[in-house]
Amino acid sequence: MLSLRLWSVRHARGLRRAYDYFSRLAPLAAPVARAIGASGTEALLRPLERGAKGLLFDCRMCGQCVLSATGMACPMNCAKEMRNGPCGGVRANGHCEVKPEMRCVWVEAIEGTKRIAPDHLDHPTTLLPAIDQRKRGSSSWIHVIHGSPDPALQPPVGERITPEAQQGPLERACRSGRFVITVEVAPPDSADPQTLLAKAAPFKGLVDAINITDGAGGNCHMSSVAASAILAAHGFTPVYQVACRDRNRIAIQGDILGASALGVQNILCLTGDDVSQGDHPQAKPVFDLDAVSLLHIARGMCDRGEYASGRKLQTPPDLFIGATANPFVPPFGDRIANLEKKVAAGARFIQTQFCFDLAMLDDFMRRVRERQLHERAHIIVGVGTLSSAKALSWMANHVPGVHVPPALLARIAAAADQKAEAKQICIETIQALASIEGVAGVHVMGHKNEDVLAEIIAECGLRRQTRLHSV
Ligand code: SF4
Repeated sequence: MLSLRLWSVRHARGLRRAYDYFSRLAPLAAPVARAIGASGTEALLRPLERGAKGLLFDCRMCGQCVLSATGMACPMNCAKEMRNGPCGGVRANGHCEVKPEMRCVWVEAIEGTKRIAPDHLDHPTTLLPAIDQRKRGSSSWIHVIHGSPDPALQPPVGERITPEAQQGPLERACRSGRFVITVEVAPPDSADPQTLLAKAAPFKGLVDAINITDGAGGNCHMSSVAASAILAAHGFTPVYQVACRDRNRIAIQGDILGASALGVQNILCLTGDDVSQGDHPQAKPVFDLDAVSLLHIARGMCDRGEYASGRKLQTPPDLFIGATANPFVPPFGDRIANLEKKVAAGARFIQTQFCFDLAMLDDFMRRVRERQLHERAHIIVGVGTLSSAKALSWMANHVPGVHVPPALLARIAAAADQKAEAKQICIETIQALASIEGVAGVHVMGHKNEDVLAEIIAECGLRRQTRLHSV
């Protein structure tokens, strides 16, 4: 089945032509379909569609076929059911974070898309909505016959801009044009809020915001919404991270409203790491949404004051909404398209994966500037340090989406004091990033390393430095 799937991607252009031909002819069957009735047509078409598309595309019959928009690769074979591009965990060899034996479905999808339209990066990307779970197992061909394909998401229009006086500290800092510094803190394994406050304390007055991770790596900790609310109540500026892995759209929207009601002003929308690497690998991954559809929903709550269902909110949340990007893993050329989708869906700040490779970041930022994405969203680059070359090497091999160049590992390994050398490299990286046009700031990360991260921020000499442009 897999080999036929790969064959279909290789022949995406011809198959797309066949699909277009079928789409034009299919409405001729509409009178017959109406005469048979909806359930009769469904009963007739479903086994035919399942057989044909299952054979050619390893189709999972989601009922909302998007093969023509995904290079003839079925995105439902993705372990996270991503509908809008690859996750940040694609392995260096282009294989899947969750199923290492399988090529990433989105690496295949992009190959197929290039065969259909080599200039695909020059065109605006389609935002695909979250799957309608009721349609699973049903025929998509019926919609083609009746000429009623599922609509794509419309990028937000009439975005509600928060008046300056009501903007949170992070949004004000980003808009001011000065170099922004955020830091990541993992919530504790504790019911005592003081444990969390002790982790945040080294950063008081030192950073523009503190990201609170949401079950990072698939590991269980205090909930990010509760931890963010605790920080907000104690005068910190939290960025509430929301992962799609553990909650469906009903729970996530409720949490977003709750976070806003508790004084949280920033959210970061992410798909999330798979459960397999965490401390509960037996858990059921949800992935009802992907990061792009979550961004679109969060934007709709803020701008239009309504849930994804269209039901009106009494008081909309007022949030500074962000997303993630990973320029350091395949498919490199198309990471920019993925970022563009997130910006189109409503992200106004972007935080990247760890940058250990300045040359790659430089190249990514060149393409960001070509598409003027840095003028639509504030690009905050992830940096970090670890205590030794061995620890860094472990992270590169075990944490999805982390790329560490061998030369950097060798430099740390050769140092007499590896911890000090790794810290020095982090400071040099921050200083180098500050000179790259379009980089709005840095996001400093490092698990259980709060004191060292605070030293790095204090020693890099970039706090409150004015930048040349603002969004
Ligand atoms: S690497 Fe990520 S996007 Fe690609 S198939 Fe695996 S889970 Fe899906």
